[in-house]
Amino acid sequence: CGVFGVYSPVPQDLAWLTYLGLFALQHRGQEAAGICVSNGEKLHVHKDLGLVTQVFDERQMAQFSLSDARVGIGHVRYSTTGSNLAFNAQPLTTRTNKGILGLAHNGNFVNALEVRAEMLHEGALFQTTNDSEVMLNLIARESTKDLVEATAHAMQRLKGGYACVLMSRTQLLGFRDPNGVRPLVIGQREDGAYVLASEPCALYAVGARLLRDVAPGELVSIDDTGLHSLMVEQHVPTPCSFEWIYFARSDSRLDGVDVHESRIRMGEQLAREKAVEADVVVPVPDSGIGAAIGYARESGIPFDYGLYKNPYAGRTFIAPTQEARELKVKMKLSPTSAIRGKRVILVDDSIVRGTTSRQIVNLLRDAGATEVHFRVSSPPITHPCFYGIDTAARKELVASTHSIQEICDLIGADSLAFISEQGLRDAIGGPGLCSACFTGDYPAGVPLLNDVDKLA
Ligand code: 5GP
Ligand code: SF4
Ligand code: MG
Repeated sequence: CGVFGVYSPVPQDLAWLTYLGLFALQHRGQEAAGICVSNGEKLHVHKDLGLVTQVFDERQMAQFSLSDARVGIGHVRYSTTGSNLAFNAQPLTTRTNKGILGLAHNGNFVNALEVRAEMLHEGALFQTTNDSEVMLNLIARESTKDLVEATAHAMQRLKGGYACVLMSRTQLLGFRDPNGVRPLVIGQREDGAYVLASEPCALYAVGARLLRDVAPGELVSIDDTGLHSLMVEQHVPTPCSFEWIYFARSDSRLDGVDVHESRIRMGEQLAREKAVEADVVVPVPDSGIGAAIGYARESGIPFDYGLYKNPYAGRTFIAPTQEARELKVKMKLSPTSAIRGKRVILVDDSIVRGTTSRQIVNLLRDAGATEVHFRVSSPPITHPCFYGIDTAARKELVASTHSIQEICDLIGADSLAFISEQGLRDAIGGPGLCSACFTGDYPAGVPLLNDVDKLA
């Protein structure tokens, strides 16, 4: 998912600004979008299933925006916990003794169901299956604390990988889990407005410059007195390596590491580790482009666009069902003449289920590629993500049940190789990294309960 928040000292149309921010974060989730704004008195929210441009047409914007808003938050969703239902769309709002609150979150609280069970036991009510509601309820229950203290308390109760924006009518909060698994950055516009977003591309979209990343375990709050920071709890930082491999936009810079450059380094590393003779290096667009550039650069084999991507097609993986994903591959990709009669090195960022990869190898062979050597800029994904990236359940992960040779046969490639885990770490550089989906070593805990319907 993607989150966005803005606090403006000058009253202005923040729904519009949030819309622009969310549009820049659209790649982080296409299932639902929502915006919540307040001018200090009124608080308006609108959310629904669909893309940002579908959920917010002109009529909708005119109806719910406030010309004199001071605080706003927004969310784009791709479902991880809680299914693809309209009532799970965010921001989530609720009335508390601290006034109306709105929350938008990216990631997963691994113990949300335990906390939820305890709260249900004590008589709490839940409207959704969304774990954001657990966070909001925890905050609301700390009725004697102010909003910052109550939120810090909730951060200490809930474990996992998350980045959130929270608003009241007069205050904007942003916070990141103690491991910093999910990203969150702070920017500022020339008019003084502070902006929080999952990625810097959303700051630039609203004319803000990047100030810094929110630190792992940090809670920032912004109101009329400016920006304040509270360090709630800090662990060894382990930001999600998948942000650099695949998820983040290539023009983003997260925790000091440029995404595009890191992808090129992954490709260079892959070429050093897993060389093969061939005529052309072809990316699976768009997610394989950076690594393919690096692979070509390091190997000296020319880069070319061997697959045309229909720019009107969305991200296939994020389509919720297998059938939808398969149809979307055909809608999205078709081979160009660059591969005809050639030995092709096909570079992609990841193999998850292996179904897309198989279809793409087929496409290339049918179009006249003489050999297809598949190179992947992430290690084999053998474990599920519990921190908000929908890499599928373990049994669906082809690398959890198949050897590399078996996957190679399954996708019909002449050879298949993945970057090593150490190679990936070297290519990203920076501080620590979460690589639990490759190793099974989960730095921010694992869920004990996992069926919300068994609770209530
Ligand atoms: P597969 O061959 O495993 O079916 O699909 C692999 C493709 O899924 C890669 O091109 C990768 O870019 C794409 N993909 C899209 N979304 C995600 C995601 O959320 N996680 C992962 N791991 N891969 C994704
Ligand atoms: Fe990212 Fe994988 Fe860790 Fe999930 S398990 S946070 S996808 S590195
Ligand atoms: Mg891809």
